[in-house]
Amino acid sequence: MHSAGELHRTSPVGSRHRIPAGEEGKEGGGGKTARREEGCNVENACYSLGVCAERTAIQKAISEGHTRFRAMAIASDMGTDFIVPCGACRQVMREFGKDWDVYLTKPDGTYIVKTLDELLPLSFGPEDLKKV
Ligand SMILES: [Zn+2]
Repeated sequence: MHSAGELHRTSPVGSRHRIPAGEEGKEGGGGKTARREEGCNVENACYSLGVCAERTAIQKAISEGHTRFRAMAIASDMGTDFIVPCGACRQVMREFGKDWDVYLTKPDGTYIVKTLDELLPLSFGPEDLKKV
């Protein structure tokens, strides 16, 4: 995965965050082989139309037929805080399971790992639609 400083594909509109995000597909089980996708914020002058790096990476993978994921690493240049995914990205990730390991990083290279279930407890997912 590229560092936030290496990935400068965001548009210059508004946000000061450059966030590469990647996933790895699960191996075996009839799924495709492990791979990594990267994304960046895709911003828009109409702020609400922008898409976060996490969702960009997921959508890139989905568009190429990869639907099983096991991890995502998120990086930014936002200083001394760990970068975390926004609520919309957490919910999009949830669509593909709760077992993700999410690596939250700082520019100095330190990181912590959280599961998606820790970041989005008591979540609503596609299996809940079948309960009705
Ligand atoms: Zn987001």
